[in-house]
Amino acid sequence: MTRTAADNLTPATAPSHNLHRIVVVGGGAGGLELVTRLGDTLGRRSRADIALIEKARTHLWKPLLHEVAAGSMDVSRHELDYLAQAYWHRFRYRFGEMIGLDRARHLVHLAANLDDEGRLITPERSVGYDTLVIAIGSVSNDFGTPGVKEYAICLDTPDQAQRFNRRLVNACLLAHTQAEAVRPGQLHVAIIGAGATGTELSAELHRTVRGVVAFGLDKIDPDKDIKITLVEAADRIVPMLPARLSHATTRLLGELGVEVRTSARVTEVRRDGVQLAGGEFIPSELVVWAAGVRGPEVLKSLDGLEANSASQLVVRPTLQTTRDDDIFALGDCAYLVQENETRPIPPRAQAAHQQASFLRRQIPRRLNGQPIEPFRYRDFGSLVSLGEFSTIGTLMGFIAGKGLLIEGYFARLMYRSLYKMHETALHGPFKVTLDTIARAMTRRTEPHVKLH
Ligand SMILES: Cc1cc2nc3c(=O)[nH]c(=O)nc-3n(C[C@H](O)[C@H](O)[C@H](O)COP(=O)(O)OP(=O)(O)OC[C@H]3O[C@@H](n4cnc5c(N)ncnc54)[C@H](O)[C@@H]3O)c2cc1C
Repeated sequence: MTRTAADNLTPATAPSHNLHRIVVVGGGAGGLELVTRLGDTLGRRSRADIALIEKARTHLWKPLLHEVAAGSMDVSRHELDYLAQAYWHRFRYRFGEMIGLDRARHLVHLAANLDDEGRLITPERSVGYDTLVIAIGSVSNDFGTPGVKEYAICLDTPDQAQRFNRRLVNACLLAHTQAEAVRPGQLHVAIIGAGATGTELSAELHRTVRGVVAFGLDKIDPDKDIKITLVEAADRIVPMLPARLSHATTRLLGELGVEVRTSARVTEVRRDGVQLAGGEFIPSELVVWAAGVRGPEVLKSLDGLEANSASQLVVRPTLQTTRDDDIFALGDCAYLVQENETRPIPPRAQAAHQQASFLRRQIPRRLNGQPIEPFRYRDFGSLVSLGEFSTIGTLMGFIAGKGLLIEGYFARLMYRSLYKMHETALHGPFKVTLDTIARAMTRRTEPHVKLH
């Protein structure tokens, strides 16, 4: 395919030759895998000019964020520098946030970047494309609930997860050093939304808060002063799991001392806690909002592309957007209901991974003038990690298409394997094996919770 758009690129953004320009916006679970694999193939053979537009400087796989929030993971050990990844895998990294699109001129508009002191890092600019893949993920959906923006913390980015962890450790330090006794609610955490994120966070927090206190904060009595409440509007937690596993998870959390509140709808988040629809108030110093996701605001009106009410781009089975053949979307920001299904493909890392693998094969076909095949999502099941206590979930398609309920060590291995697949797509199996061994060795000599 030849370039289709005349554009007015600045020298810094202009490709050096007349190759087909593939631009991926968003270097997350799906986008970074795609751009890395395209760079390794089409980029390396100089068959296309591959670029990644990304508003962050480093990548951290999003399903790890609850571990960052709980303080059981050191971000620096798992984050990846986009600039280095681009250099190693033959794609260009364009640092910036997509704020608009010009479909007629095939341009993506990027906002200017300023540093903490207001100095310009990169100016407002535009990047030209021939094939565009939008993979900008999702943000937490507060469903218009008052007080969420002001008083709750969402787990959309590593910065938010680290901010939560700092506030948690600070709350423990204050409780330990203040003259008066620990007041009710002072070390309480309310987690709103008992999907995988909220449930995993509650179990992980139970362990790490006790870990922090065990480092000598002996004025705090973990069993009396620390309380974690998981609040869910539906009548059971982890609704994507079968009822039996959902009940088993509730039981396990109960044994840990996590209070699980189902059929409880939050009507307001306040500075000092959470108001429920029935009039009850749950006092809590920290509130985490994990009650669902929607597409980022920019997708609402992106030069006429079709978006649903949750600001996700509506795509066809080829993952092309409904109104533009040159623009694809994948992962959390894409909306697709497959043939013979009633529900859309869920916003999960395994969906983003499968769609990235699909487009890695289909984009070269498109360049060769071949038709694009339809994407088919395979649900391999859902696993929920309850920290070191257990992992619980389903594996699909093992026995004549039926689901298999799994728990314990095997489930834990399977849970970790999704991250290993992501890392392997980014670095190859050799480096992943070395990294895994190195992390296992250093874990023995470091605290298992983050204390700063
Ligand atoms: C705590 C937690 C636990 C989870 N656990 C699981 C799990 O166990 N299993 C599972 O399958 N899924 C899990 N998920 C869901 C999973 O993380 C997402 O489905 C997955 O990350 C989606 O991948 P993506 O590529 O669509 O988007 P993301 O991975 O979110 O990546 C989007 C990227 O786009 C960038 N971006 C955003 N806006 C712009 C813009 N305007 N311009 C430029 N760049 C932009 C972001 O910085 C980011 O790098 C979990 C999520 C969370 C928060």
